[in-house]
Amino acid sequence: MPCTRKAYIQTQNLQHEAKTDGLTGVLNRAYYDELLVTHRRDSALILIDIDNFKSFNDDFGHEMGDAVLVEVAATLFGTFRQSDFVCRIGGDEFAIIMIQMKPEHREVIERKLDKVAAFLRDTSNGLPPVTLSVGIAFGEESSTPDSVFQAADRALYKVKRAGRDGYRFAE
Ligand code: GH3
Ligand code: MG
Repeated sequence: MPCTRKAYIQTQNLQHEAKTDGLTGVLNRAYYDELLVTHRRDSALILIDIDNFKSFNDDFGHEMGDAVLVEVAATLFGTFRQSDFVCRIGGDEFAIIMIQMKPEHREVIERKLDKVAAFLRDTSNGLPPVTLSVGIAFGEESSTPDSVFQAADRALYKVKRAGRDGYRFAE
């Protein structure tokens, strides 16, 4: 029996919901895991963690914290290409998978991250400023999802240790 239009739309909505994060509307952790398997070799993985977000919640309240998560997601979504994948992979952690990116294009990433940082530092949107720590790794022929993640995460950790608010590429 042919699928009715209503059933088709319901199925599409369910598929969309299964891939997206309820709070921010960007892609969720489960979908990110699938994407990394597919794109680990031809992409850049950008891992992002909001700085001192526990204190932010303590100082401004959980609702304001949620508003910041939505703002960070929207800023990332608006800054990267439609073909890149913006995901929320944990409480205050985001990941972007930029497909068909190579190390020689790192300036493109730097420019975008500078733009994101400037935007989130600006308080004219009514939210307190936040800063991000970011680690970036490029997939290679021999990469596994785990190896790309670990490389980006090590770079992110170095940014945290060096005082936060910045980005670093994996060595
Ligand atoms: P660091 O700079 O080292 O990242 O410090 P941090 O305080 O950000 O520490 P961490 O990243 O480990 O903690 C994340 C915090 O994010 C913990 C929790 O208070 C907050 N958080 C996680 N999920 C949510 C959420 O859905 N909403 C809000 N408002 N806060 C959340
Ligand atoms: Mg954090």
